[in-house]
Amino acid sequence: MTKLKIGFVGLGNMGAPMAVNLAKAGHEVRGFDTAAQPPEGVSATQSAVDAAAGADVVITMLPNGDILRAVASEVLPAMQAGALLLDCSTVDVEAARDVADQATERALGFVDAPVSGGIGGAAGGTLTFMAGGTAEAFAKAQPLFDIMGQKAVHCGEAGAGQAAKICNNMILGATMIATCEAFALADKLGLDRQKMFDVVSTSSGYSWSMNAYCPAPGVGPTSPADNGYQPGFAAELMLKDLGLSQQAAEAVDADTPIGALAHQLYAHFVENEDGLGKDFSAMLPRFSARGRQT
Ligand code: NAD
Repeated sequence: MTKLKIGFVGLGNMGAPMAVNLAKAGHEVRGFDTAAQPPEGVSATQSAVDAAAGADVVITMLPNGDILRAVASEVLPAMQAGALLLDCSTVDVEAARDVADQATERALGFVDAPVSGGIGGAAGGTLTFMAGGTAEAFAKAQPLFDIMGQKAVHCGEAGAGQAAKICNNMILGATMIATCEAFALADKLGLDRQKMFDVVSTSSGYSWSMNAYCPAPGVGPTSPADNGYQPGFAAELMLKDLGLSQQAAEAVDADTPIGALAHQLYAHFVENEDGLGKDFSAMLPRFSARGRQT
């Protein structure tokens, strides 16, 4: 293995364990976060620029596209020739493409590689990366994907990773809502939840939401529903991703009525219905507690 110098910016819930795994694999990792201290094995720097200077690869794991743009504008001029900026945050497609253009202007590599797998996947090194960028940049990132994850799909040019992520999560948000409202209807029809699971999980209504992450406690494999709806994947993170998919749909004039409704329902759930801090599958008790809306 070639030992790389890695600058890691954004050491939060996801970034810290990812940086630890890179350090454990033998890379030299220097980290920066405006709020968090670097985890063990990662050396502290005073700024994102310090973390980036002299690095072969700079990895960012930040909350949103505006922060990515701000960090990239500082970091790109500090990066050494030929280095790679690997952004693993979930951000809007436009931000990813703009940062990619800025990197290209400076003859630097860029890959957008948002992840799925959550905090458990970050800690266990089992994330899935959806990547956008040139073949050359993707090849350079591949050994790092192998350490931090179990799979990396090269989806296309810059921005394609973010596009794949928000399309996937738009389907996920919509199917979770559909699964939850169907359970609530089944309850009112007197259908046993276990029977509902037995039928749907092996019939045409099956989905990851039903089969792998069942929102009904005590039914199907263990999921956040069995733990009082502690996340898991928090409703506010689903709301963020559904917002990004609506932003993208607007930008390219795509008609996404179900995605738009899922966005509205999660916004209401998080902002007005006590959904903040709960797993996104807590839509089931939300539906159970209400009657038909006219
Ligand atoms: P987080 O809020 O725990 O971490 C973000 C970190 O960035 C924070 O520690 C914050 O202090 C730091 N930060 C903010 N501005 C900064 C700046 N200018 N310079 C340096 N550091 C700065 O969030 P997270 O859960 O680690 O998520 C990170 C990204 O991963 C997000 O884009 C999120 O959507 C995505 N994601 C999260 C999950 C999950 O389950 N948590 C799953 C998939 C994808």
